[in-house]
Amino acid sequence: MKAKAKYFLDTLSAYYPDAQIELCFNKKDPWQLLVAVALSAQTTDKAVNKVTPDLFKAYPTVKKFAKASVKDVEGYVKTLGFFRNKAKNLVAAAQMVLERFKGKIPKERKLLENIPGVGPKTAAVIIANAFGTPAIAVDTHVGRVGRRLGLTKQTDPSKVEAELTALFPKKRLLEAHHVLIFHGRRICFARKPKCLECPVVSRCPRVGL
Ligand code: SF4
Repeated sequence: MKAKAKYFLDTLSAYYPDAQIELCFNKKDPWQLLVAVALSAQTTDKAVNKVTPDLFKAYPTVKKFAKASVKDVEGYVKTLGFFRNKAKNLVAAAQMVLERFKGKIPKERKLLENIPGVGPKTAAVIIANAFGTPAIAVDTHVGRVGRRLGLTKQTDPSKVEAELTALFPKKRLLEAHHVLIFHGRRICFARKPKCLECPVVSRCPRVGL
């Protein structure tokens, strides 16, 4: 199974050499990453990238965010799904980061998951992208593509994560996360995947199709 996983990872990585996070944020600022990922729940990265430049300009630091009124933040993110909840969580998150972690995003996953609006997926994205800790965050694309490739049968994201983490080399978990998302967004669509154009079609069991 590990050999199969490696084949899929090698092939998809060669096919998507530029696979990386598609959210726009200051790469030196984990807080901005947290904001962008939290905003991306149930919405597209493209929609998030439209609102974050003005949002980050209005609230350039955790401190500024912590002092923001939820209503004002709502105004910046109102085009996104669940914007009221997201705005409320982001202000609460900034307050917690400021008060409990002296304005710095913690590197430990368990601590991150206590921050309002930060679930296991967001925490995994942050530790992997901002702090270089091996982790494969599981979103809808990673789960779907992983199942179709026969790498997991699980549907619960934390179980999918555990199984994929055991299959891919530790050092390549972030790479696996990025290529599976790229593949899910470009070829292995939820509906009508483009299997005839797929670089791994010869070895894909196409589970569920
Ligand atoms: S062959 Fe089809 S189901 Fe399998 S990974 Fe490619 S697009 Fe997805």
